[in-house]
Amino acid sequence: MPRGTPAAHCWRPWGLSARRHCARNCAWAMLGTTWRHMRDWRRELEVRVSSENTASERPASENERPEESPLTPEEQPQADGDKVAEATAPAAPGPDLFAPGSLGTVAAANRIVLSPLETGLASAEGEFTPELVSYLVARARGGVGLVMTEAVNVSETGLTNSRMPRLTTNDHIAGLRTLAEEVHRAGAPLAATLTLGPVDDVNALTAEELAQLQGQFAEAAGRAQTAGADAVALELGNGHLLGQLLSPASNAREDEYGGSLDNRLRLPLAVLAALRERVGEDFPLLACVTVDERLEGGVTPEEGVESACRVSRAGVQGLLITVGTVRSRQYAAPCHYVVPLPAPALAAKVKEAVVVPVVVAGGIRTVAEATEILAGGQADFVGMSRALLADPELPMKLRTGREASVVPCIGCNQACVVGEGGGRLLRCVTNPRAGFEHEPTPLRMLSPRDLVVVGGGPAGVVAAVTAAQRGFRVTLFEQETQIGGRFRLAAVPPHKALLGRYVEWLKQALADSTVKVRLGERADYETLRGLAPEVVILAGGASLDLPETIPGIADPLLPGFVVSADEVLAGKAPVGKRVMIVGARRVGLETADLLAGDGRHVIVCDSSQAPDALVPATVRPLLEERLKANKVEVLAEATVVRVRDMVVFVRQGGRIVQYDSLDTVVVACGWRRNDELASRLAEHVATVVVVGDARSPRTAMAAIREAYETVAKL
Ligand code: SF4
Repeated sequence: MPRGTPAAHCWRPWGLSARRHCARNCAWAMLGTTWRHMRDWRRELEVRVSSENTASERPASENERPEESPLTPEEQPQADGDKVAEATAPAAPGPDLFAPGSLGTVAAANRIVLSPLETGLASAEGEFTPELVSYLVARARGGVGLVMTEAVNVSETGLTNSRMPRLTTNDHIAGLRTLAEEVHRAGAPLAATLTLGPVDDVNALTAEELAQLQGQFAEAAGRAQTAGADAVALELGNGHLLGQLLSPASNAREDEYGGSLDNRLRLPLAVLAALRERVGEDFPLLACVTVDERLEGGVTPEEGVESACRVSRAGVQGLLITVGTVRSRQYAAPCHYVVPLPAPALAAKVKEAVVVPVVVAGGIRTVAEATEILAGGQADFVGMSRALLADPELPMKLRTGREASVVPCIGCNQACVVGEGGGRLLRCVTNPRAGFEHEPTPLRMLSPRDLVVVGGGPAGVVAAVTAAQRGFRVTLFEQETQIGGRFRLAAVPPHKALLGRYVEWLKQALADSTVKVRLGERADYETLRGLAPEVVILAGGASLDLPETIPGIADPLLPGFVVSADEVLAGKAPVGKRVMIVGARRVGLETADLLAGDGRHVIVCDSSQAPDALVPATVRPLLEERLKANKVEVLAEATVVRVRDMVVFVRQGGRIVQYDSLDTVVVACGWRRNDELASRLAEHVATVVVVGDARSPRTAMAAIREAYETVAKL
């Protein structure tokens, strides 16, 4: 039997654990299968046992960390003083987040894995660019246990974006070698994730063409090994080609590659065997398996777990378990609406049935989630990508008891889902340096200057903290009594509480800085002139005004009938039972979600053809589901033309419709820039800059990045 071919007796029935099954049945192995199967089985058990060892139980050589640890001596946890270890002490049976583990010969310093995340940062020719290398190395320096690259294509076809990395020629080795060297220098091992991206129709490929793919994968694996990667991971899901073959939703073949699970697994297992032959017996291979595609007719949890079990016996040293594909991205990249996360429970089923270590990924953002997964025994490692995009130093901060300073991922998917926007590059709302790690951090000022920031929203706080780090003497004015700006309001609708964590982080960042914060004070022209700073940054956000173009909407005889979305979210305006929301951008739709969830009848009208077009594609279907469930009516290409005596006139499809039974109209459109002070101050202050929504209303990502960039260049 060739290596990698599972023995038939070990294809256990659903739900029967590996140990229970083998206690009953493995006598057959001794009688009827080759010695090679038994050797693989024992080796897998050894791997599993070693992954569960603590550092002190492991051989000294295996516990050695690379010389250049990302932690300074001061940051190294003390035997009895590691706050995080105390706070997150796991219940049996799982390991601690910071217990060392291993995947075959890959020794990980802890249980946090940087899981594959599409970046769009490779060159057009598929090389690892300085941008891509820096992004990955920053996470290695931040203390992750293992760095996995994004999916690297083994072919020039099937690219998921035009800047997808490739390993199709030997010319691609150099960039990956640079990455491997730098990741190792930072103290982490590296796994190169290999894939062949989706094809239009997997049924159109001939059996010969499919068989030839084994060679392409094997060549790429050889290049990864030559470049210095410590492991190769094979993508068997996510809607990529091998996943398309595995999925009944896309595979309708009638040859030996279609039909039964045996047939659909034929090529994936053959590719694994080809990789093994190419990289040798001792080189670690990992497999990425999508155990629930969340697609009509796609891989179900039962079949997905069964596939993972079979793959685990094909000579791999670990499994990465995920949910969702490129066709169901809302689950592959779960936003804040996906609760609970589906992957951990399925990973637990896999873990129960296999003997190799299990990594689970998919929306794990917080230390609490990660700790719970490990402590609950659902997985051996947690894969994080967006959480580490938001804060590359997350592991180091947790390890050294600085959890409050971890920049949170808020689950917005606004800037980090590269594949959905064609030529998009990886960015992050809460981390303005994400995707720009190759740029040097801003220099410190040699002689301090006075700088005033007006506005305590995210853009203002990021500007203030960055300026303080550069050595400016910074004062920040916020007219409200709290920091956070519109983010405080955006955290109010259902499932948006993660934004509140970011507001808490903004407060913490100010508290940790030298910025003087003046809350509840309006920084007007006279105040700013009196302070005579050298730099003023106006970051007051946008103003939400009633659209002046709608006759009657601001009628003073209708007090309380027309209110703003901000007033509603702030709890400052009573809202009746029957509500019309004018404006269906994200704020309008989320306000509708909030009000309809409270039992109100809600109509949303918007003049555009696709009212929710600006909601990220991975969020939109989930928000739409919620609105539908709450019976919210969304009127597209509908324009409010007049409000009179509590009657709203809406033009839609060439006719005017009267809505005369409404209790409240909520205005969620009409944001205006907020830069009036700029020209007056320019006469007295050397540098006046307007940033963020105050300059022009747009996405939070653009506003925060602009604030950071502005201060970095001062
Ligand atoms: S853009 Fe939003 S979801 Fe994506 S990593 Fe950043 S905070 Fe998280």
